[in-house]
Amino acid sequence: MIRINENYTKLKASYLFSDIAKRVSAYVAANPAKPVIRLGIGDVTEPLPPVCVEALHAATDEMAKRGTFKGYGPEQGYAFLREAVAQHDYAARGCKIEADEIFISDGSKCDCGNIQEIFAQDIRLAIPDPVYPVYVDTNVMAGRTGASIDGRYQGITYLESTPANGYVPSVPNVATDLIYLCFPNNPTGAVATKAQLEAWVAYAKKNKAVILFDSAYEAYIRNPAIPHSIYEIEGARDVAIEFRSFSKTAGFTGTRCAYTVIPKSLMAYDAAGNAHPLHALWNRRHTTKFNGVAYPIQKAAAAIFTDAGKQQTSDLINFYLANAKLIRDAMTKLGFSCIGGDNAPYIWVNTGRDSWAFFDTLLEKAQVVCTPGAGFGKCGEGHVRISAFNSRENVETALTRIAAALK
Ligand code: PLP
Repeated sequence: MIRINENYTKLKASYLFSDIAKRVSAYVAANPAKPVIRLGIGDVTEPLPPVCVEALHAATDEMAKRGTFKGYGPEQGYAFLREAVAQHDYAARGCKIEADEIFISDGSKCDCGNIQEIFAQDIRLAIPDPVYPVYVDTNVMAGRTGASIDGRYQGITYLESTPANGYVPSVPNVATDLIYLCFPNNPTGAVATKAQLEAWVAYAKKNKAVILFDSAYEAYIRNPAIPHSIYEIEGARDVAIEFRSFSKTAGFTGTRCAYTVIPKSLMAYDAAGNAHPLHALWNRRHTTKFNGVAYPIQKAAAAIFTDAGKQQTSDLINFYLANAKLIRDAMTKLGFSCIGGDNAPYIWVNTGRDSWAFFDTLLEKAQVVCTPGAGFGKCGEGHVRISAFNSRENVETALTRIAAALK
């Protein structure tokens, strides 16, 4: 008899965005004359930068000719992209990352979901709350947790982000082995200072732990004192893996390209205490289960590192950040305390009331969709996430409606 992986039955039955979609569809069906503005889901709205489109066309033409056609590429990514990333994203910030420590992939979602495969079953996890749900759910699927009781899976050390700690959790007072951190954060938009990241690197060193650092939103950092990479912290090469994505940097959510950095000096241990380089394990996993990102897509991604590409991506991000500022200023003016939006595309609003009730109020009275914080974890209760990914017109209309509705 074929049997299922019963860990899947531990996953919470409903999924946040499908719950939201159901409520929004029901509202739209009942109120067809009231157009809804969606500031909920974190997908970009602006088209690809022109440099990326030109590179896509040129690479497609190469694929059309016998002399320049390409079949399977290197699973880890073409050298031209790995070298551009090493130079522009790392060397330029003083981080020592070699091109062959960079693994190009089709998304940070897949990478931060798949990475846990190379670790033992019985490791101790530290995961933020609120959180990008992929970190939790993939470990639940792998059987590293117990059941979910009162919104919390047994066996996880939750790193609480609350108003009291400025939404940046400090190191726990228990030892853990695999630590998920995400800055700028989804959903809160919070960023971590150098000193805060130094404390995490020191904690990981002390516990022979590994930090999984998700910096999918690093391009939104505008405060020059905030690190863009965990490798800006002394010693991080020995304790951290970093995930980055072209999705929010250059509008690649539909085009798909990302990368994961695993320094060759990063070790993890077998049961006998012998050290093994994680680079070799991930290389084995990546080359066995993944066949590389399409050549035209990698060419399009590399185009963002040209002078024109840097200008266009910076303009794109400044556009979303200007939306974010409008949202944060408007919500603050209405009396809410907010974080995010200054170095991130998300604004985390402390609503002071049930997050689904606030969601319903905005939907019914302002026809604006936000994301209820409770969907991101227990500590998200009382908050909502508002996303800056939309047109200026929609953001301005949404804010006018919210102000009228909450007056
Ligand atoms: N990490 C975080 C924190 C995200 O918010 C997202 C997307 O929303 C991702 C990773 C996924 O990125 P990708 O589009 O590269 O899969």
